[in-house]
Amino acid sequence: MKSRALQSAVRFLGLLCALCAAALNGFSLDREAFSFTNYDLNVQVEPEQHRLGVRGKITLRNGSQTPQKIAVLQISSSLDWRSVKAGDKVVQFVTQPYTSDIDHTGGLSEAIVTLPQPIAPKGTVEVEIAYEGVIVVDATRLTRIGTPEEAAKSADWDQIDTNFTAVRGAGYVTWYPIATEVANLSEGNSLFEVLGRWKEREAGSRMHLRIGPLSGDNLLPQVLFNGVVCHGPTTYESMGATRAIGSLDCLNQPLLPEPPTLIIADYQILERPAIEVRYLRAHDASAANFADEAQKVSPFITEWFGPQREKAKTADLPDPRGATFESGALLLTPLVGDNSKQAGLSAAHQLTHASFLSFRPWIEEGLAHFAQALYLEREKGRPAALEYMGLHRASLGEVERPTTLPRSDDEVTRSLVNTTSEELYRSKAMYVWWMLRDMVGEAALKKAIAAYRPEDDKEPSYIQRLITVQTQRDVEWFFDDWVYHDRGLPDFKVESAYSRQTTTGSSIVTITVDNLGTTGAEVPVIVKFKGGEIMHRLEVRARNKGVIRVETPVPPQEIVVNDGSVPESKTANNIFKIEPTEK
Ligand SMILES: [Zn+2]
Repeated sequence: MKSRALQSAVRFLGLLCALCAAALNGFSLDREAFSFTNYDLNVQVEPEQHRLGVRGKITLRNGSQTPQKIAVLQISSSLDWRSVKAGDKVVQFVTQPYTSDIDHTGGLSEAIVTLPQPIAPKGTVEVEIAYEGVIVVDATRLTRIGTPEEAAKSADWDQIDTNFTAVRGAGYVTWYPIATEVANLSEGNSLFEVLGRWKEREAGSRMHLRIGPLSGDNLLPQVLFNGVVCHGPTTYESMGATRAIGSLDCLNQPLLPEPPTLIIADYQILERPAIEVRYLRAHDASAANFADEAQKVSPFITEWFGPQREKAKTADLPDPRGATFESGALLLTPLVGDNSKQAGLSAAHQLTHASFLSFRPWIEEGLAHFAQALYLEREKGRPAALEYMGLHRASLGEVERPTTLPRSDDEVTRSLVNTTSEELYRSKAMYVWWMLRDMVGEAALKKAIAAYRPEDDKEPSYIQRLITVQTQRDVEWFFDDWVYHDRGLPDFKVESAYSRQTTTGSSIVTITVDNLGTTGAEVPVIVKFKGGEIMHRLEVRARNKGVIRVETPVPPQEIVVNDGSVPESKTANNIFKIEPTEK
């Protein structure tokens, strides 16, 4: 109750601030008008003071349809703006707090900048900026919606500290400027939507970071993000730790959708051909275990998803309950205890990212989760894989409840190719890849994956075309129901099953499966009889029926539709008992 009151108070304050700003400028702000195409930043980190100081230049591009005279720049609410210049001129800017859950503090420091002249659509402007402040553990955005403090701090663990410094980027700590509309964790998918739009606008942006100068007392900073290339500083060993003098110069590859993560920690490094594991003191056994498991999984993953584009990187978190964080081939996770099966399972996901790249979340994340199911199938058999996928089904069922069936205009926005919902682009997408593998076969799917080039993926149907080349099967209807639209889930029911004996003594059972749902699928049909069972696959389109005849050596006793490999809205009607018939 209390937190709800607080939430609405916070929302009200947020609204109030937005109104102030609008009044101030005489019109409402379009916070997402500009995208940031280039960052060139000098970053100074002082762990003893928990302090971050940044100076540098950013390039803004007007992505809107109208000229823009006002630019909004946002940083974490624990940081303060010091100066903003455009074209060597000090420009007018006002700062204000802006409530938004895109930052761990639950707020941003906004600079509302009046540019020297309006920027035309597609035009760019270079802005010189300076800001500074502290970054300490802060879980306000989670505690104010009722998350217990302990759990909240294990999730939002970012901080600058002498023991451990780690700051993730947009979505966690806004330590480099962004510009976004308000994100609200108590409003469903709002944060994911805001972040999704931000990533889309920033696709292709470049970032050049210079971290330092570092003195002899400094530990070596490590900038970990996809495709980053770093040079310097001079390092040496002192008191058992790697220390650095000079500065670290890092340039990211453009077109990578993940924000950079900055880490300064006293890590030891363990190298294997497929993976590099950075771990904290006293965690050597767990780190070695993780590295070994990853190395073991590696041939299987490259067989499916191709040779590694980059080495996978895993880094340790000091809090044993610290929430795992992934950013492409980078994984931050507490390396504690001996959990080798868990290590293999998470390595399968991480290594898939190291091999395969797509800018479409349902392909990128869907395949990485699919790889985890494949790994379990190989280690323990199909039932173990289906059980793992079943864990995802619970959350998927929530999203795809029949009562929340999408309206027709939502069919497209909630489709796998457009969605910003994690349940959809992770869990549902994993099932889609699994079903595709079952439909077209492993060899065909592997070939289609091998032919995939992210730079050629310009239309949603690109991957469908790659699969079509490899198979005789028509997969168009499947993509229509599962990928291009969100039509909910199928609902299979065994309508009838008639069995008769043949002259040779075996039985033929004729099974009619009804799909009451609005999505089609090819579903396994299992015929059970004394001493065994036979599984066949049957394609049943949405609101349609399918018939299959199956021969069994002795009279069948039970028909089961769906082995759990097809997510379904209702499974209570999946079993059909065949009454024994008199001869
Ligand atoms: Zn992933």
